[in-house]
Amino acid sequence: MADVIIVGGGISGTAAAYELARAGAKVTLFEKGRLAGMASGWTLGGVRQSGRHPAELPLARAAVATWATLGEELGADVEYRRNGNLRLARTPDEVEVIRALVRDQKAAALDIEFLPDNRAVRGVAPALSERILAASFCASDGHANPEAAVHAFAAAARRCGADIRAGVRVERVAVAGGRVRGVDTAEGTVAADIVVIAAGVHANELLSPLGLKVPMTVPLVDVIQTEPLPPLLAPVLGVANADCAGRQEASGRLRFTGGLGQLHRDVAAWQPAELQPTAGALSEVIGLVSSILPAFGAARVTRVWGGLIDLTPDALPVIERASEVEGLVLACGFSGHGFCLGPVTGKLIADLALGCPPRLPLDAFRRARFAGTHARGDLALHG
Ligand SMILES: Cc1cc2nc3c(=O)[nH]c(=O)nc-3n(C[C@H](O)[C@H](O)[C@H](O)COP(=O)(O)OP(=O)(O)OC[C@H]3O[C@@H](n4cnc5c(N)ncnc54)[C@H](O)[C@@H]3O)c2cc1C
Repeated sequence: MADVIIVGGGISGTAAAYELARAGAKVTLFEKGRLAGMASGWTLGGVRQSGRHPAELPLARAAVATWATLGEELGADVEYRRNGNLRLARTPDEVEVIRALVRDQKAAALDIEFLPDNRAVRGVAPALSERILAASFCASDGHANPEAAVHAFAAAARRCGADIRAGVRVERVAVAGGRVRGVDTAEGTVAADIVVIAAGVHANELLSPLGLKVPMTVPLVDVIQTEPLPPLLAPVLGVANADCAGRQEASGRLRFTGGLGQLHRDVAAWQPAELQPTAGALSEVIGLVSSILPAFGAARVTRVWGGLIDLTPDALPVIERASEVEGLVLACGFSGHGFCLGPVTGKLIADLALGCPPRLPLDAFRRARFAGTHARGDLALHG
C-alpha cells in the first residue's frame, strides 16, 4: 500500500488521514499550525444539505448520513445535533427567493418545506422575531462542534497508525519524472507515493511551483460567540441573502457569522490581527442577528474572530487526482461549506489516493471546469 502524506490538519485532512490509515495506508499528516487552526476552527459548524448546489447535494446527503453515527465511530462526542436548518425571509423579495429554493430542492427529493408565515416559523423556533415573514425548513440538517470533530478524526487516525504532526509546515511538494516523491518540510524531506493537498486557502502556495492553480478569492467572514445561554434555538439559522447565519452550540453559546466580507489580498502572509473584526463590522452583524433573534442583542459577547474562505468562481470545491502530476490529490476550495462535507471528503480523498473509483460522482469538482470560463456561482450560501 502507498505511503501517503497529507498537507493540512483541518476537517478534510484529518478525515482523510483516518480513512486512509484504517484502510492500511502509511499516513503522515503535516499541519503548519495547530489542528483546526484555520477554517475548520473558524467555521460556524453547520451540517446542511439545504441550499446546496445540485452537484454537491449527493456529498452533503452522504455526509449527513455519516454524521449520524460519527461520534460513536470515532469514540468521541462531536456534539452533532440534527435539529434542522431554517432559512429566513425578512422581506417580500426574500419570500420569493425562499419559495423558489424550496421548490428546487423538493424536486431534488430533499426533505425541505416552505413555512409560509411567522406563526409557522416561530412554531419551529419561538425565539425568532415577529418580523420574519417565511422560511424554508430542512429537518435533517443540523450542526456539530468543529474543533471536537477535527480532534476526534485525528485521534482515531492516530489509533489506526497515522502520524499526525502539528507545527510542521510543508515548504514544497517534491516532484521528479512527472510524479510526486514526497515533501520538503522545515524538519527535512519525507518520501511518499501520494501527496494530498488539503491546505484550504494556502493550497495554491504548494500548487503554483508545480504550475498548477485552483482559482480562488479569499473573503473574510466575521464571527461572534456569546456567553452560554439557556436553550433558545434548536435549528441552525440562515437568511435568504446570506448576510448572517448562526446556531446555538451544545455549550449554550450563540455562534453567529456575518456575510462574505472584504477580500484578503496576501493570504500567504496573513497575521492573526488582520482577521480581527472591526467595531463597525461587529455592530453590523449584531444588528442583523438581533433583528432576527432579539435575544442575541442582550447576550454578552465573549469572543469574536474572522475566518478566511477559499472561494472558487462557482463556489464548488476541487476534489480530484491531478492529471499533470502522478500521485497528487487535491481537496480544497470548499467555498464556505466544507465542514459538513468533511467526513465524506475524507472518504473521497482516500478513494482517489488509493486509486479506487470514487464512491460518489466527482466530475463537477475537477479543475478542468474552470478552463476558459468566467462563471460566477452563488457565492452567498456559506454556513
Ligand atoms: C466563518 C466561517 C463559517 C463557516 N461555516 C460553515 C458551516 O456552517 N458549514 C460548513 O459546512 N462549512 C462552513 N465553513 C467552511 C468550512 O469551515 C471549511 O470549508 C472547512 O473547514 C475546510 O476544511 P479544510 O480542512 O479543507 O481546510 P482548513 O480547515 O482551512 O485546513 C487547512 C489546514 O492546512 C494547513 N496548511 C496550509 N498550508 C500548509 C502547509 N504548507 N503545511 C502544513 N499545513 C498547512 C492550515 O494551517 C490549515 O489548518 C465556514 C467557514 C468559515 C471561515
